[in-house]
Amino acid sequence: MKVYFHEFNVLMGDRVYLPNVSGMLRAYAETLPQIAGNYEFMPFLFVRSQPSKIIAAWDNPAVLAFSSSMWNHELNLALAKQARQLNPKVLIVFGGPHIPAETKTFLEQNPFVDVAVLSEGEVTFAEVLTAFLDGRDFSKVDGLVYRHPVTGEIIRTRGRELVDINQLPSPYLAGFYDDFLNHREGIQYQMILETNRGCPFHCAFCYWGNGIVKVRTFEMTRLEREIQWLAEKKVSYVFGADANFGMLLRDRQIAELFVAAKQQWDFPKSFRVCFGKNATDRVFETAKVLEANGLLKSVTVSFQSTDPTTLANIGRSNIKISTYRELLKRYRRDKMPVYTELILGLPGETYESFKRGIEEVLRAGLYDQVEIYLCQVLPNTRMADPDYVLENGIQTKRLELVEQHALRRRLGEVVEYEEIVVATKSMPPADWQRAVVFAWLVRTVHGLKLGFLVALYLFNRFGIKYTELLEHLIEKGMDAEHFPTFAGEFSHFTSHIRDILSGKPQFVFLDEFGEISWQIEEATFLRISGRLAQFYQEFEILVSELLERRGIAFDAVEVSEVILYQSVRMASWDSQKQREFQFSRSLPEYFDCLLRDVPATIEMKSQTLFVETVDYLGDKKEFARQVVWFGRHDGRALLKPVSWR
Ligand code: SF4
Repeated sequence: MKVYFHEFNVLMGDRVYLPNVSGMLRAYAETLPQIAGNYEFMPFLFVRSQPSKIIAAWDNPAVLAFSSSMWNHELNLALAKQARQLNPKVLIVFGGPHIPAETKTFLEQNPFVDVAVLSEGEVTFAEVLTAFLDGRDFSKVDGLVYRHPVTGEIIRTRGRELVDINQLPSPYLAGFYDDFLNHREGIQYQMILETNRGCPFHCAFCYWGNGIVKVRTFEMTRLEREIQWLAEKKVSYVFGADANFGMLLRDRQIAELFVAAKQQWDFPKSFRVCFGKNATDRVFETAKVLEANGLLKSVTVSFQSTDPTTLANIGRSNIKISTYRELLKRYRRDKMPVYTELILGLPGETYESFKRGIEEVLRAGLYDQVEIYLCQVLPNTRMADPDYVLENGIQTKRLELVEQHALRRRLGEVVEYEEIVVATKSMPPADWQRAVVFAWLVRTVHGLKLGFLVALYLFNRFGIKYTELLEHLIEKGMDAEHFPTFAGEFSHFTSHIRDILSGKPQFVFLDEFGEISWQIEEATFLRISGRLAQFYQEFEILVSELLERRGIAFDAVEVSEVILYQSVRMASWDSQKQREFQFSRSLPEYFDCLLRDVPATIEMKSQTLFVETVDYLGDKKEFARQVVWFGRHDGRALLKPVSWR
């Protein structure tokens, strides 16, 4: 009896994740002799394609297993529906985070599904296969909802206790992926590694927060062997599936295992993971081990919101801003980029509190990335609970899903969807739209660095808030006659909001910069990066107007040179030959001090700045790939100053 697993991952350029869930299910199932003796496990199906092509890979299947996440759920349903038409007897099993806990409705709405596995699937799925050897009575299998084969009644069985995860064998060590890795055919396979499962926190927007609270760890000997395996197999990129890496004492040891593997095999090249939000010292030490060996691009120190009411509503607590400030200095001292996440649209957040939150994190000294996500409503989270939705006046919009840095779907591929918050009781639709504009501008000006140094100067020299500069740009920058570059981008963004509100995707394609999708601020940055001179001309006028408006007496030459300093530090896809720049004020020294947290003043003395240029030879696609896709988190948008004198 043939079993097919479906776990479709997003194709990002030439990269795709190996199907970890399918591997875990198969690895445990095969430990049971009656399964090993009766079932044949077929190659995993995990690269998205048109349904007809996927179906063509099936050869008389007895069981079709689908792992559903936001990015593959509709495809899974389309395949399962056709499978039922082709074969009324095939057993169709669904599982994964996108299967709503209220699973009876899911089975009612999708009559072609036989079984939906709830929560962790390994043991439940193996028991389903065992029961299927004797028919279709799944009543003795805990942790699922199934359709009674005779009456059609939808039955929920008892909940399943959490399993000892160390009884679950490693699919990597079982050799399930060796064939793929030995015959890559131009695909770069990425890997997901679980070192533990569970999260002790309860954030309302997060699947973990409503799910498995107890943190269970995989044994170190297994992790050691898995890391050795991935290095030997030359896997470049590993994503850690942990919810809070660095929270456990042993995580530093895991980081050291990665370092040892890299030193011996030169792989992996990169390990990305979500770091724990509160265990600051331990996270720092663990991240440092990875960063010092070139394995880590940046460390997450996330807030999601800084507003007390919002945090209470979503059941989250954060480190204090004062702790954050000290932490940022510490990371900066060790040259470790940090990125901080905020979510727009959380219940309780207002336009003003959202803006205040941005000001707080930037003023605390976040010089690297601020990521601001539009709040998604995911199944099995409190955000999706109808009472919670009602209580908080949550309004949502279902958008076509295009994932970040993913290839365009081909003709005939199934469309996926995401649901985002577009208003709450505390943030009515008009305020949400204002906040979205603000968030886009922060990510463009600060995150992608187009105005980062100017904003830093205005704050340190004149006490002008970051958010005041941004609001000024919004207010004045829409004047197309005087600021055509700014106004053009505002106009792009305004139509983008209209698109989102009519269900179009958040991410966009720019053919001249490659075949993958970009976040909207990345698209803005890419367009501007070919017109830097014009952009900074307009920026200088806007900054001068702001200072005048505030009644601040300022040195126009100094402001002009600040703009020059900012502009010559920007990477561009245009050939960059000039590496040496003259200033009549001590701006190279000033910015050097500011960025190192050393007191800084500007003096009337001439200085020369030398920058490390990267010449992309006008290749826009390569520029976009290196600076935005791979380099955003480690700040490649800013050219490095080599020296000044
Ligand atoms: S957001 Fe992070 S801390 Fe909060 S529940 Fe999810 S994984 Fe845990």
